[in-house]
Amino acid sequence: MEDQKPHHVVLFPYLAHGHFIPFLALAELIHRRYPTYTLTLVSTPLNVQNLLSSLPPTFPIRLRALPFSPSAHGLPSTAESTADIPFDLFINLFQASEALKPAFDQLIADIIQEEGRPSLCIIADHFLGWTVQVARKHGVFHSIFITGGTYGTAVYFSLWTHLPHALTTSDEFSLPDFPDTRIHRSRLAKNILVADGADSWSVFLQRQISLCSGTDAVLANTVEEFENTGLRMLRRIMGIPVRPIGPLIRPPAFPSSSTADKNFIIGWLGLHPPGSVLYISFGSQNTITASQMMELAMGLEASGRAFIWVIRAPVGFDIKGEFRADWLPEAFEERMRERKVGLLQHGWAPQLEILSHPSTGAFLSHCGWNSVLESLSRGVPIIGWPLTADQLYNSKKLVEEVGVCVEVARTNIESTRVERGEVSRVVKMAMGETEKGREMRRRAEEIREVMMGAWAEGVGSSVKGLEEFFRAVGSMRKASGVRAPG
Ligand code: UDP
Repeated sequence: MEDQKPHHVVLFPYLAHGHFIPFLALAELIHRRYPTYTLTLVSTPLNVQNLLSSLPPTFPIRLRALPFSPSAHGLPSTAESTADIPFDLFINLFQASEALKPAFDQLIADIIQEEGRPSLCIIADHFLGWTVQVARKHGVFHSIFITGGTYGTAVYFSLWTHLPHALTTSDEFSLPDFPDTRIHRSRLAKNILVADGADSWSVFLQRQISLCSGTDAVLANTVEEFENTGLRMLRRIMGIPVRPIGPLIRPPAFPSSSTADKNFIIGWLGLHPPGSVLYISFGSQNTITASQMMELAMGLEASGRAFIWVIRAPVGFDIKGEFRADWLPEAFEERMRERKVGLLQHGWAPQLEILSHPSTGAFLSHCGWNSVLESLSRGVPIIGWPLTADQLYNSKKLVEEVGVCVEVARTNIESTRVERGEVSRVVKMAMGETEKGREMRRRAEEIREVMMGAWAEGVGSSVKGLEEFFRAVGSMRKASGVRAPG
């Protein structure tokens, strides 16, 4: 902690729950280690309102809302986060986020005017590459914060940079940037497969990726010893140091569920032996199809293993709408409840508390990066069912490189057939019925220890990463206007 002079750090996450979580965790971490720094988190009005109502007043950040008009971008008027919209509208939200630029520019100008010329430092999401331009205009240090895994992000960046892929005829191909990395065609989400460089997804993502390359530094929510391949790849793409400062997990002060739900679920888990319950969730923004839900339900029942399934309306239905019993086998929910075998949690679950409970033995996950870190930091192995974006590469890494995951399916929004027999087989295996499942558990336990080590005082790689980062910010200040190297 060499540079103790106070900074004002402006944090700007993308408009998605899975991005707010690591940014809040980062804010809490910076506050813990550098208590004199001022922290401001920027978002849109509804997101700020939600944060104000869920964060305790003592949480050490100021919140600033930028004016935002979702309906000007073809979004419902209250859609300010990916959790509010179906996947089809994700691109509209991306485009809408770029319209925040003038208001963000003004905010930075106001802070500089109000506080004299403070040591401002912007830490922004990699989907908000345009914030680099604002930082340059005001002579402010800028860092990208990669909230995903470095392997998944490097592959994702590389795929979007080298289009098109529609002509890819072989089942497996090498990434142009990384010839040793072989990608199977089934790991191309539909929007990448049809992208030609002129479609909205390509235009948005290529622009943000290119703008990100003008940043001064890169922080990543990962651990050096856990992701050395991914870090090597991302460092090559970015051309400047990428500092891992993870695992940054949801801060305890940021509640994930109502206390009543939490108590009930923890009580239910307590009825089951250690390592015997499978937890199932597809994250905050994606769902599976109705027919996949049906097969998953039948596969779970056939496996005979206990489970908690966070269940929401399938693809094509209002994500926040009424749940229909006919999406599941007849009387499935009642049957599971009576036998105390399965608990369906409608809507939202206290995920971190479930993964931290000794009765939880495995996690069937879409492999969103927060879920991956939450699971492995608790020593819980994963059954992968990636649905889109970097999830498809996070899962690949966990299967092929880390050995803590087995895939049960791979969807790319359009859908893949999932078969109940396969679900049952994989669930039984991952729950420790076979040697492979037991080995996954051992590996997950090893990764848990690696992750804990990253925060060992004085020696942990993430401790050092954060210290180096603020040294780089400080050295830029000393050079009075001259950009510091990373
Ligand atoms: N989450 C939760 N309860 C739920 C669903 C999700 O607490 O019912 C949290 C989960 O713990 C994680 C985040 O939401 O912190 C999801 O992030 P992730 O990167 O795994 O996936 P995304 O939602 O971004 O696809």
